[in-house]
Amino acid sequence: MEEEFVIEDRVIGKYRGDQPGKLFLCVAGIHGNERTGIIALQRVFASLEEHKPSFAGRMIAVAGNLTAIEENTRYIDIDLNRIWNKEQIDEINKTEFEDLDCNEHREMKALMKQLDTFTFVDTPRNIVFVDLHNTSAAEGMFTFTFEGETNYEVASALHIPVITGLDKSLQGTAVEFFAKRGYCSLAFEGGPLGDPKSIDIHEAGIWMLLEASGCMAKDNIPNYESHKELMQSNTEDSPDVVDLIYVHNIKEEDNFKMNPGYRNFQRIEEGEVLGQDVNGDVKAPHAGYIMMPLYQKQGDEGFFITQDPQGN
Ligand SMILES: [Zn+2]
Repeated sequence: MEEEFVIEDRVIGKYRGDQPGKLFLCVAGIHGNERTGIIALQRVFASLEEHKPSFAGRMIAVAGNLTAIEENTRYIDIDLNRIWNKEQIDEINKTEFEDLDCNEHREMKALMKQLDTFTFVDTPRNIVFVDLHNTSAAEGMFTFTFEGETNYEVASALHIPVITGLDKSLQGTAVEFFAKRGYCSLAFEGGPLGDPKSIDIHEAGIWMLLEASGCMAKDNIPNYESHKELMQSNTEDSPDVVDLIYVHNIKEEDNFKMNPGYRNFQRIEEGEVLGQDVNGDVKAPHAGYIMMPLYQKQGDEGFFITQDPQGN
């Protein structure tokens, strides 16, 4: 992907349908080096504007961490996707913009203000919130969501593994914040960082989600079958639903280094040596599937472990 990538406006696109329906709200680039969601959303809006299909509701997409997007880095001062809790957001909102020392606090204030201008007219259960991400490991895509029939129904339309239990193991994510508000809320990890194929995956997934949210009929979605095939073809060997059971939290001084070669959904054994830190070998505390092994400099988690409902 080209290095030069400037977003002029936090709003990536807005499309108002010809019929009443859901507010389909997307955020991309909460992590600034995860640009494929932004490009995919630009493609979807370009197609909607060109074809003007029948659409129930509205679609709005917003960019997350503008400063980090411009610098193509995960974040500037702190991870913007670990500070979504009510107390912290209230504190940020109370503080004048100029008095916020942390870049991500300023981004949060501006982003929340923008999102609130779109969401205040809808009841929470009329809103579908989708947060687009990439992983630093090769291959593997999946979606995070929460208990609740609508969440599962919409998330499973992606035809990729659904991961639950995020709320128990990882605090302060945007998806959890909006799930608590009562939105149908999911994060969509659409393939590796910077891979052009991840743009296609994100685009295909957005169309699938628009159908599942009742915004569009599949007959009105361009290349519907090929989008669906792309989603299905990538995850043939992956489990349908897994539960997040462990997050390996790290600090900079840990000097954590993941051993090379791990992929999302690779099986690991209990006690397997996954990496090294200042104290020596870092071993897997549980057997299961490894997720999001850290292969980039920035990050507060070294790896995640999930298990399927049978405990495998
Ligand atoms: Zn991310």
